[in-house]
Amino acid sequence: METELQGGCYCGALRYRVTAAPVLKAQCHCRACQHISGGGPNYFMLVPPEGFAFVEGEPRQFKRSDLPNGVTRDFCASCGTHVLSRRPGLPQLVLKIGTLDDPEFFGGPKMAIFCEEKASFHLIPDGLPAFDALPEQRR
Ligand SMILES: [Zn+2]
Ligand SMILES: [Zn+2]
Repeated sequence: METELQGGCYCGALRYRVTAAPVLKAQCHCRACQHISGGGPNYFMLVPPEGFAFVEGEPRQFKRSDLPNGVTRDFCASCGTHVLSRRPGLPQLVLKIGTLDDPEFFGGPKMAIFCEEKASFHLIPDGLPAFDALPEQRR
């Protein structure tokens, strides 16, 4: 059966559909994710771009110009919900699982990344592989 997931922003102006299986489910503890998540780790899935489409609304995009390898963030221009990031050199989209209509699809992270930037109160489930930065060089 084909994967078919739907989601959108908080106000509903942005809607998307995912038709490809995610290739990774994880939690990220980096400072940028803390800004955007509200302070905790950011839960995300990597999805192939060919299996993702906005079906309602056009996202606004933001990229910090002061960072050499800044990510591009797609978010709702009306309510500000950050939906996904596009990371230079990474073919997949970084989709925030809180925007899924059914976040339970996530099922839980398979790894924790950028733990060197984590806050002391962040929780990492017992036995979850945890990496200071990324598990391996991604191209
Ligand atoms: Zn919105
Ligand atoms: Zn992060």
